[in-house]
Amino acid sequence: MRTPLVLVASLAVVGLIGVAHPRPAHADVKIVATVPDLASIAKEIGGKKVSVTALSLPSQDPHFVDAKPSLVLKLAKADLLIAVGLELEVGWLPSLQTQARNSKIQAGGAGFLDCSTSISVKEAGNTDRAKGDVHPSGNPHYLYDPRRAGKCAKAIADKLAAIDPDNAKTYAAGYAAFAKRLDGARADWEARLAAYKGAPVITYHASWIYLSDWLGLDQVATLEPKPGIPPTPSHVAQVIKTGKAKGAKVVLQEAYYPDKTGKLVAKKLGGAVVSLPGGADVGQGESYVDHMDQLVDKLADALK
Ligand SMILES: [Zn+2]
Repeated sequence: MRTPLVLVASLAVVGLIGVAHPRPAHADVKIVATVPDLASIAKEIGGKKVSVTALSLPSQDPHFVDAKPSLVLKLAKADLLIAVGLELEVGWLPSLQTQARNSKIQAGGAGFLDCSTSISVKEAGNTDRAKGDVHPSGNPHYLYDPRRAGKCAKAIADKLAAIDPDNAKTYAAGYAAFAKRLDGARADWEARLAAYKGAPVITYHASWIYLSDWLGLDQVATLEPKPGIPPTPSHVAQVIKTGKAKGAKVVLQEAYYPDKTGKLVAKKLGGAVVSLPGGADVGQGESYVDHMDQLVDKLADALK
């Protein structure tokens, strides 16, 4: 069926179909990132050539962000939307994208970057959407691995150079400086936690597998029976049994999850809950490296 011309014209007016809106030569590239860590990395790469906003706070579970009208406005004006992908934002981002009526930042648009396409994904294809699992496309919590965050940073730099070629050199230099700082910090983090390779840990959500993979921690159980499904008494009993058998003492969880169950389990195991920040507090001037620094501090403290 042919689309009536009047419909094409009205879709073009509201920006639902691709119409070129060239960016003024000297304006900042307006970047919107779904989570604070991506916002921080994008700002470090783009420097003065970009303005960056995060759609969620480090105190918010990125699976369940409130799709407020103020977020629609940010997306309506954005030149680039950077997402974690792997359906992390599936519950809230698509509706915001639709409401923003900005053709650039729709999936597949020139101003959309799904960072997960730049990394190797863990737990891809071994989950069961029908049972409420919120990781149906693979585990989306890869930013806890600085090696993968570095790959994501490169993808951001390349994307910026593509949409703003006049400043491609700035973005390449921004990426090089970030990568150097990240590599230096990573060597320090690895040295500090080298003694804990093989240490058994329990986690609340399945968000720490990339970190465990990077540092060689042994994630023996998760309190959520499936990602996104709250702990049940029978599952918690099983976790305590496994934790005792494996000698786990530490329960890792992001500060945005309730810690009642974690505390109960830690008490039974004679250990402690380690409450970790879910992302960089960019509002307070924190960077991705600062966030990971804090995380390594808390981990080193808990594991010793
Ligand atoms: Zn998750």
